[in-house]
Parts: sequence; structure tokens; C-alpha cells
Amino acid sequence: MLVYIIPYEGELFKETRQAYFLKAFGEEVKEMRIIPFGKCNYSCPYCKRNGYNKHSCIIDGSIVVNEPVVFNAVSDAIDKGQIVRLSGGDPCTYPSLSIKLLKFVKKRNGIGSMAHNGSSPTLIKNLVDNHLLDSLSVDLKAETPEKLAKIAGISSSQSIIMWNKTIQTLRVLKYAKEVKVDIRTCVFNDTDFEELLKIGEIIQKNSNENVFWTLRKYSIVDNFSTETKDTESMKELAQMLSSQLPNLKIGIRVKWDNGAFFYYMNGKEC
Ligand code: SF4
Repeated sequence: MLVYIIPYEGELFKETRQAYFLKAFGEEVKEMRIIPFGKCNYSCPYCKRNGYNKHSCIIDGSIVVNEPVVFNAVSDAIDKGQIVRLSGGDPCTYPSLSIKLLKFVKKRNGIGSMAHNGSSPTLIKNLVDNHLLDSLSVDLKAETPEKLAKIAGISSSQSIIMWNKTIQTLRVLKYAKEVKVDIRTCVFNDTDFEELLKIGEIIQKNSNENVFWTLRKYSIVDNFSTETKDTESMKELAQMLSSQLPNLKIGIRVKWDNGAFFYYMNGKEC
């Protein structure tokens, strides 16, 4: 089978990242090896992976490789003690391969993780039922289907289906207590408190104690908005949200670089 992969700085499977959100679960931050599939079913105009420039779901600039090349990269990550993080694009565009790769990770006693846009409850249910996920980052991009259409670059009719599927994904995860879940919402310059509160209420209603909500400050990309919130405004928003949603752990992605980490609970910084 041929697989599209997004190169990182001109190389395949070079990217690693720190799983900062693990700290919220009392765990050490570990390194993740990113396995970035080169296809996506969304076209978010703010995508940092060029997800809005595609032909038949294939992201421009992706490189096609044979399946064993992907397994070799996963094997290398396991040997190095890294978390194997299926990402993208989006892993839901390779559902069978994603399941196979995460089964391979488990068989080798590795740690499996995925970053997903939320649109495939079927894939997530399969992974949860087979105990293949240690952690999952999943997007809740918007509080309504109308807003999702704009943010994900999809049609209104598609957005109704995808928004409902995302809620189904959250419901699957609510009963998957062994999976550490990081729900991510990108915060743009014009995102206001009321919108975020509605998103937070949806998360609170559909989550268990193993859920963390990350507010991600929009990073400027060329073809989208040239403005973004400053860190102080992000902190203020998180604190206000935390006062209204006291049981939810709420973090701000922009503050975690270089090992700094904090989140809010009960309206207070932890
Ligand atoms: S879902 Fe993620 S990878 Fe796909 S276009 Fe949106 S931001 Fe990019």
C-alpha cells in the first residue's frame, strides 16, 4: 500500500514534540514521534500543515512512500522510547493503517497516541475498544456546525454531519477512562468568551476526569488572518472560563514551550 506523508524540514519522520499535557495527569512529559499522514478531510484555512492546499484529499507537498517505510519509522520511535503519535493531515484518512500501526505499537509494548480532528467516532471507537490508545488529542473547533464550516473550510451540509460526529467522538471518549484526552480549540483574534464558554460546556457535559481542554493561540499563517490574541488575553479568557467551568482542566498551549506548564481549575492557576 502507498501512503502519503508530509515531510518535516525536508525529511520524513523527523518531527518530534513534547507531550506537555501529560503533566496535567501527573505524568512526566515524554517525547512524541510524529507520523504525519498527508491527507485530510478538512480544509482549515489556518492549517499549519498546508491542509487547505489539496487535490482529492492529498495535501500538496506530501511524499508517497510504501507502507513498510511507515512501520520502520514507528519501530524506530518505539526503540527510542518515544510515544508514537499518528497525526496529519488526519489519521482518519487512513483508518485501517492507523489501526494496524497502533496494534503494532501495542505488540511491541510501545505507547500509542493520535491527533485527530474529531470527525471519525467509528475509528476512535475501534481504537478504544481494542485498547490501542494511551492518549488522544481531538479537536472541538467550534460551538455550532455553522462556525465549524468556516473554521474547517467545509460546506454547510458537511459541517452538520461533521459537527455531530465530533460530539459522538466525545461521547465515545467519555467512557474510555484509560485514555488521556486532550481536547483542542484554536482561539482566533475574534473568538470571544461566549463562544468558548459554549464549547467548554459541551466538553464538560461529554467528558470524564481524564480530559484536559487546551486553548491554542492561533499562529499566523500567510493566507489567513494577520492578527492573533496576546498571551495575557489568552490567560484572562482561560481564567474566566475556569471560573464558570470549575471541574474542567483548562490549559493554554502558547505558555508551555520550553517546559513551562500551567493550567486552570476552579478559576485558579495550578
Ligand atoms: S483538520 Fe488539521 S490537518 Fe486537517 S486541514 Fe484542519 S488543521 Fe489541517
